[in-house]
This record gives sequence, structure tokens and C-alpha cells, in this order.
Amino acid sequence: MPQFSPDVQALETELIALRRDLHQHPELAFRESRTAGQAAAFLEGHGFRIRTGVGGTGVIADVSGAPGRTVLLRADMDGLPIQEANDTPYASQEKGRMHACGHDGHVAMAAVAGRVLASRRPAGTIRMLFQPAEEGEAGAQTMIAEGAMDGVDVALGVHLWNELPVGTLGVKAGPLMASVDRLRIVIHGRGGHGAKPHRSADPIVAAAYVVTALQTIVSREVAPVHAAVVTIASIHAGEAFNVIPDEVVLTGTIRTFDPALRRSMPERVTRLATGVAAGLQCRAEVEVRPGNPAVLNDADVAALARRAAIRVVGEAQVVEPEPTMGGEDMACYFEKAPGCFVFVGSSNAARGLDQPHHSPRFDFDEAALLIGAEFLVAAATEALA
Ligand SMILES: [Zn+2]
Ligand SMILES: [Zn+2]
Repeated sequence: MPQFSPDVQALETELIALRRDLHQHPELAFRESRTAGQAAAFLEGHGFRIRTGVGGTGVIADVSGAPGRTVLLRADMDGLPIQEANDTPYASQEKGRMHACGHDGHVAMAAVAGRVLASRRPAGTIRMLFQPAEEGEAGAQTMIAEGAMDGVDVALGVHLWNELPVGTLGVKAGPLMASVDRLRIVIHGRGGHGAKPHRSADPIVAAAYVVTALQTIVSREVAPVHAAVVTIASIHAGEAFNVIPDEVVLTGTIRTFDPALRRSMPERVTRLATGVAAGLQCRAEVEVRPGNPAVLNDADVAALARRAAIRVVGEAQVVEPEPTMGGEDMACYFEKAPGCFVFVGSSNAARGLDQPHHSPRFDFDEAALLIGAEFLVAAATEALA
């Protein structure tokens, strides 16, 4: 059974009430003004210096004891453009918007942890950070550009995780989540009559070979013990059944854990796409737009997070999660200071609470919330010591 501190346990009712309130009113990226207001209001009057409107809708709240280190606790606030399919009493009241990733829970857990830490006032500074736009809209970069990481020694964050059962905490040193880069390839050919292919340069045939050739990056160029993904996710070209079009547009995503491998990927994609296209009398233009780096947990911070996790749920319930090729902008904070991102097990199959993140039926076992809040308090305390 998890061990809860009395001051964390005392806030359980408020914790669940705050999560349910946020769940009913999800807000999309950079529009999280109500959510930010709720987070700030929860900390107001507890000794924090609170800055709102950081990077749009972000909140930074600092509380300091005796001089010491600065530990950042980060929560993301955005919901998703999904129509909720659950009919719980706290289901989303906003049409077409849903907290389908658990960020409502992240805000609630962090708010409770912040209030508890403020009342205990350990030596050092606790910086609570509520960020906008985690879901692919660069919220973390926006916060960092406004000074969120200035003076921070250690960064900590959690994600509710339906891949793990409630009662567990997932802590892993090293790579946890992948870098996410966007790929766009335009293949220029020369359109013409579908009946006279010899009078044109067919970009559709070239695109088909390019898609196939790109598969050899992972299968033939990346060492088999390293992980990478090259996915072409969209192909757009043509209108009519009897017209060869002028061009094809492909988009996709590139995922890696290793920074050096990541840096090598644009050359590999460009070489194959341009080479294959040229052989077929077409011309490929390749653009790789960098997104989040990989989430790389620092070994020392992961060790302290593991100690904290063991104190909360016991050693048998602390697991080392499988890395995922999904991305997270928590990675951006780790480029500025060492840190650890921890999964809070939140599924409960017996209660039907085991749908994947981003599903319209996503929900989690709320027992995970108190565990996550207790863990944040324990880990922050450990990081300040
Ligand atoms: Zn998500
Ligand atoms: Zn998420």
C-alpha cells in the first residue's frame, strides 16, 4: 500500500475536486486561461511569488526557504481536440474538447504538491511551472524563452500513464521518450496525359519508390540495437484518373533517442529521396523541421527519483518502464538542467480504466493522483536536500 504524508492525504478531496473541475473544462493549446487561473488560485495565499501570462497562459510560482538549490516541478495544462465519449459525472462540458492525456491530473497533482511544499518550506526554492501547449505546439520552448529555467538546478515532471497499473511508479534513467522531427518531401515531376507516360516524368511512381527506399534507413543504415522510426504519414497528389500530376507532397515523422543519430537523419532522408527521385527524372525537395528532443533522464536525478518512488509505493511497485517512441516537450527543460520524467501508473483494467491516451474513452484511476502528488513532494524534497 502507498505511504501518504498526513499533509498530502489531507488534501485528497481538494485534489480530486480540482482534477474533476479541470476535466469538465478542457482548454486547447495556448488558450488555457481558466486552467491557469485555477492553478494560480490554488497556490495563492500560500507564500508563492506568482507570475501569470508567462509564454501566453503559463504560470510560474516560486516559494523559497533558506538559501539552497532551485527545483522545478512542471505540469502541462492543455486538453485535446477530441469529443469525449465517457459519460462520467465529470465528463467534459466543452464540445469537441477533452482532457484525453491526463493533463488535468497533472495540474491537480502539481498544485497539491506545491501547497504542501510551501507549508513545509524546505531550504531552497521550489518553482512550480504550469505550461501551455504540450501537445505539439511548443509550450515548453515558450516558457523557457521567458526565463522559466533561469537558476533552476533540477527539473522534475510526471505523466499519468495508462500503460502501467495504478499503484506503480515508472522510473528509468537515460532515454525514456523519443525526439520528434517533422518531415516534408515535395517530389517535382512533369505532369501529362495518363495514356502517354513517356511524355511526362511521373512523380507518383517516384514517390512510391521514395517511400519504399526510406524504409531502408531503419532496416539497413541504423544499427539494429538502436531505435529509430521513419514514418510517411500522408501522401497527396493528383485529381483525375487520367492525368499524371506535376508533384507529390509527402509528410511524416522521424523519431530517435540518440542525439547523434537524430542529427544524421536529415542527410539520410535527403540523400535517398533526392537520389531516387533523380533516377526517375524527378526532383525531391526535403525539409526536416526539428521538434522536441528526446526525453533523456539524468542518471543522478533518476536515482533520487527512484528513492522517492520507493518511499511512496514500495520497491516492488517501482518499475522500469519501456521507453516509448512518443514524444514530450519535458525534454526541452532537460536541455537546460538535469532532470527526470516519471510515469505514474494510472490504469485499472478491472474498472475499465485502461483506454490508451488520446482515446475519446480515456480515463484513469484517480487513486493515482494522491500517489503522484506524494511522489512530487518526496522527489522535490530529495532534490533540495
Ligand atoms: Zn498527449
Ligand atoms: Zn501528455
